[in-house]
Amino acid sequence: MSQYWSPIVSTLKPYVAGEQPRIQNLVKLNTNENPYGPSPKAVSAIQAAADDALRLYPDPSATALREAIAVRFGVQADQVFVGNGSDEVLAHTFQALLKHDEPLLYPDITYSFYPTYSRLYDIDVVEIPLDGGFRVRHADYDRPCGAIIIPNPNAPTGIGLALPDIEALVAAHPDVPVVVDEAYIDFGGETAAGLIGRYPNLLVIQTLSKSRSLAGMRVGFALGQRHLVDALERVKDSFNSYPLDRLAQVAATAAIEDAEWFETCRQKIIATRDRVSGELQAMGFDVLPSQANFVYAKHPALAGAEVYSALRAEGVLVRHWNKPRIADYLRISIGTDAECDRLLDVLKNLP
Ligand code: PMP
Repeated sequence: MSQYWSPIVSTLKPYVAGEQPRIQNLVKLNTNENPYGPSPKAVSAIQAAADDALRLYPDPSATALREAIAVRFGVQADQVFVGNGSDEVLAHTFQALLKHDEPLLYPDITYSFYPTYSRLYDIDVVEIPLDGGFRVRHADYDRPCGAIIIPNPNAPTGIGLALPDIEALVAAHPDVPVVVDEAYIDFGGETAAGLIGRYPNLLVIQTLSKSRSLAGMRVGFALGQRHLVDALERVKDSFNSYPLDRLAQVAATAAIEDAEWFETCRQKIIATRDRVSGELQAMGFDVLPSQANFVYAKHPALAGAEVYSALRAEGVLVRHWNKPRIADYLRISIGTDAECDRLLDVLKNLP
């Protein structure tokens, strides 16, 4: 019955999200969630809003949230765009800022939503290979293009680019949008948010799903000069002028304002990540240097699929992609210390 489909739909390869199994007491280290839960202030804000305000439409401009984000990042509220998860912010970015016939550049290996959006919005792409150490080399992007998108740190490798390298990339391409996807920036990277005043082509995208533990709520945002945010707003208002529900707005505002909770949780995750990386290396794993809330690691002898299955059989879920060059790597999200100990125990006992 695909005769009823638009031609693009027939060619789509939809993004496949990590498994969200219903099995209880599984150690779930497969989708980079935060093990510590959101700020208690966010939870109280949700309860209060649920009690008395759900019959009302939410603020279509999410003013309070945008102001909280602006204060946190030292920008103006009209330089902030918010959306239903950074995936939606990215989708609007692809629609609003990318050209169809000049290639979009992004790394080959990266977040697999980029190829999906490129297909959906009919955008030409050139994938720029990572170097032998799985690193993004900013100089490799010195070529004509319509736009660039780079996750910093990259996913699923976890390797970050230093801020001067990001700035060099943005400065080298003044005529095209350069989008920096900072989903994992709070676990060891340095945000490019401070550069937006100087670069009219820079858009920085972040999420509250990881360092602020609100993945279930779906909140992401972009920071950029007014003309970029204006383009995103035009697309949003042509699509759904209420992208963020009331509960998401109050929870996200409280989470952004609770600097103490944020700092405590992210420091714990960084400490556990560094411990897990060290222990995996001691077992002979090849572990990429992560600046994210996950590690990307390869067993010294066994194939990635075998290690994945052995962990799964013991109730530990990690992420594995059966793709060339990365088929032997596993992406392991950093959980609590106890969860990571469980992972390490299973790995130590592999045949
Ligand atoms: N960017 C990258 C690089 C990611 O890994 C993810 C998480 N899958 C996202 C964006 C989207 O996160 P969210 O939609 O939860 O904000």
